[in-house]
Amino acid sequence: METSQLGKNRTRQRDVIARVIGEAGGPLTVGEILERAQQEIEGMGVVTVYRTLKLLKESGQVRTVILPTGESRFEPAGRGHHHHFHCRVCDEVFDVAGCHLSLPAGGEISPGFVAESHDITFYGTCPECSR
Ligand SMILES: [Zn+2]
Ligand SMILES: [Zn+2]
Repeated sequence: METSQLGKNRTRQRDVIARVIGEAGGPLTVGEILERAQQEIEGMGVVTVYRTLKLLKESGQVRTVILPTGESRFEPAGRGHHHHFHCRVCDEVFDVAGCHLSLPAGGEISPGFVAESHDITFYGTCPECSR
C-alpha cells in the first residue's frame, strides 16, 4: 500500500517536472525547476528534482545543456537544433529557433578541421528587459 502511494507520488513528481521543462521558453536551472514545480507540489525538495532529472535523462526525455559559463540547465531532448540567448539583465536563458550559422559544405571550417556540431549561446538583452 505504502509502496504504491510512493510510486504514485513519484509518477506525479516526474510528470510535473517534465511539464515544467517542456513549457519553459528555454533551458532551466535546477533552482528554476524546483521553484516552478513547487507551485504544483508543495514542499518538493531539491533532492527530488535531482533524482527525477536523472530518470528523465535516462529515459531520453530531457537533456543537459552546459552553457559556456559552465552552468548546467535542462531542456526537452526532442527539441531539435536551436541556439540559446542569455539575457545579461535578467539572467534568463531563452531558446532561439533555427540556426544562424552557414557552414561550408562538408563542414570543413578550417583546412583539415571538419565540424560535426556546434552549440551557440548569444548574450544580450531580452525583449522584456529592453523595454
Ligand atoms: Zn531579460
Ligand atoms: Zn546552429
